[in-house]
Formats: sequence, C-alpha cells, structure tokens
Amino acid sequence: MQLNEHYRNLEESYLFTRIGRLVAAYGQEHPEAEIIRLGIGDVTRPLVPAVVEALHRAVAEMGDAATFRGYGDEQGYGFLREAIAGYYQGKGVSLDPDEIFVSDGAKSDLGNILDLFGTDNVVAIPNPVYPVYLDTNIMAGRKVVFLEANEENDFLPMPGKMQADIIYLCSPNNPTGAVYTRSQLEQWVAYALDHGSVILFDAAYEAFITDPDLPSSIYQIPGAKSCAIEFCSLSKTAGFTGTRCGYTVVPAELIREGVSLRKWWLRRQTTKFNGVSYIVQRGAEAVFSPTGQEQIQESLKVYRENARILRTALEKQGVACWGGIHSPYIWLKCPDGMDSWQYFDALLHRCQLVGTPGCGFGSCGEGYFRLTAFNTIENTRRAVERLENFYK
Ligand code: PLP
Repeated sequence: MQLNEHYRNLEESYLFTRIGRLVAAYGQEHPEAEIIRLGIGDVTRPLVPAVVEALHRAVAEMGDAATFRGYGDEQGYGFLREAIAGYYQGKGVSLDPDEIFVSDGAKSDLGNILDLFGTDNVVAIPNPVYPVYLDTNIMAGRKVVFLEANEENDFLPMPGKMQADIIYLCSPNNPTGAVYTRSQLEQWVAYALDHGSVILFDAAYEAFITDPDLPSSIYQIPGAKSCAIEFCSLSKTAGFTGTRCGYTVVPAELIREGVSLRKWWLRRQTTKFNGVSYIVQRGAEAVFSPTGQEQIQESLKVYRENARILRTALEKQGVACWGGIHSPYIWLKCPDGMDSWQYFDALLHRCQLVGTPGCGFGSCGEGYFRLTAFNTIENTRRAVERLENFYK
C-alpha cells in the first residue's frame, strides 16, 4: 500500500477549521459573549424570493410522475447554461452554452480542473490568496512559484521574469479585495499567450464590481478565450453557500498540445461527476432572471454598505486598509507590529469579533487581517463600535 505522500506536505489544519476551534473554545469559556462573525463570510443574506419560488416549483415537479426528472446532463441543464450565457452577453462576452459547465460550486472545480494538467507543470499562485489553489497543488505534488502581493504592488502581482504553465488569478481578490484593471489583465493575457500558459481565473466575486471600466470577466480581455478558464460561484452573490451552485467556463478556443481543454473537461466531468440537482439548477436559473437579478442587487447593496461602514471606521482610526470597494473583503494592517494570529486573539478576546488572520492566506499575509461584509448592517455597526473602542 502506498499513500499519496504529498499530503504530508499540507499544513496540519485548514484555516477555517482552526478558527472554528478557537471561537468554539472561547464561546464555551464565555457563554454570555455575543460574538460577531466577520470571518469566513458565511453569514450571507438568505436566498431571494425568486430563487425560493423556483426551488418550490422544481420540488413539486420532482414529486409528480409527469414531470419527474432522473439523471440530468452532467454539464448542466441547457436552461441554466443558456441563462448564464445571457448573463455574459450583458458583459459583452459571447459564450456558447457548450463552453459553460454547471458545478456544485467553484471550490470543487478549482480543485478538479487540475485533473487536466500534468504534475510537472509549474504553477504560479498569488500570495496571499484563497488557500484552495495552493493546497490542491500540494496534494498533486506540483512545483509552485508565488506571486507576491504586497503594499508596493497594491496587492496585485504582475507577471515578471518567471516561467509558469498554470497561473491562478483571483479578482476581486480574496482576501485583499484588490481588483485588476483592464490594462493589468491585458498584461497577464499577453504573458499567457506568449508562454502557452493557462490562466485559472477565479471570478467568484465578480458581482461586487460596480465600475464598468473594471473587468468582471477575463473574457472581456481580447485573446483571453485562448488562454483562460474562468470559475464562478453563486455562493456569495446569491446566498448559495449552502445550496451549492457555480459554473466554470472552458472556451472552445482553449487548445494546448493540440487538445481542446473543453472536450477533456467534458470527458472528465462525464466520468467523475453526475451533475448538480435539477432543483438547485432551477433555483440558479432564477438568479439570472430579471427579477432574480433585481433581488440579488438588494443583498449586494447591503454588503457594499457594510464594506463601506467597516472601511470608513477603520480609516477614521488611521488603520491602513485596502479593498471593500468592489469587494466584500476589507484587508487591514494589524496594529503595533502584531502578527495576524495575535490580532485575531486580541479582537476575539477584547471585542468578541471574529475575522480571518491574513497569514492563513499565505506568508505575505502575515501582519494583515481580513474582515468581511457578509453580515447584517446592524451587526456591522455593532462591530464598528467595538473596533472603535479597540483602537481608543
Ligand atoms: N473562490 C474564492 C476566491 C472564494 O473565496 C470562494 C469561497 O469563499 C470560492 C471560490 C468557493 O466558492 P463556492 O462556495 O462556490 O465553492
């Protein structure tokens, strides 16, 4: 028996598991404490009425022999892929529904996509960033080079003198909230086209972008269809964290070594994945309806207001912070030379506030901290009062 020895190279505990343990321990010691969570970003608003109605209708269909559905298309039902293509049309991006793959969320696909690539590829991963990119590549034993995101580059690393076959980009970024401009993404696309690399573009937070000059899809950049795969999620924009639905775009133009990656991804999915439930796909379709879009804007408005409240309060205290404008994340510098976990402990113990230590997203996140806008406006205001006391 041989195990996958690469797992030994993983950090012992996934970031949010450790946070969960620490918060639970604090809660047990202080049962009276009213803890406000601005950490994992799970306190989203509930599903909007258009989605709930669509889910109910789909449940009724599944309970009626005349409309019952069994196994569906692994790639996703045509009605949802067409709705997503329509959404992209609104961004000026033309996609064939065959280029869209419905998933149970971006996290699975971000890991699973690696099935298409050899283990000898060099992978470039921003530091700090959503930890799933690094861990999934460690599991496969790939060589990783880091793209340092720091105050000097406004947390937006650019291609340098490196050789990378697979490049992860996340914009708007988790955890820093930084958003690439059009000209910056043009440089990344040019790099990938020059080097034959593939960009894995994580657009999980695209719906938070309000400035039409900022790209919300990499396919708004000419040439990107020949070098990029895009991942998207309904988790944060439409409250699907528990319902689970996302999608991945693999354009027909994306060819490497004479192989259509779209065809290989289809082959992979039809072998290892049996699709997202019909009920959930009907709910997801409703997100893209005019009423659904209007209703999710209400939720997005709340998150944007929360981000504004947090950022304004921090700036008032003279705290260096980034993000929170086209993003639900506020990235801030820990005070008085504290490291990220020290600040985590201080906020938990002194303010009963939970955030996420920046070092959990990579070594360059040490000394920084992430707060999220995923909460109610009331809780965000209470959190701000506690932060103001903390900085007094
Ligand atoms: N990508 C990024 C950057 C994220 O922050 C998250 C969730 O936090 C995901 C992907 C995962 O999304 P999903 O819930 O669709 O799996």
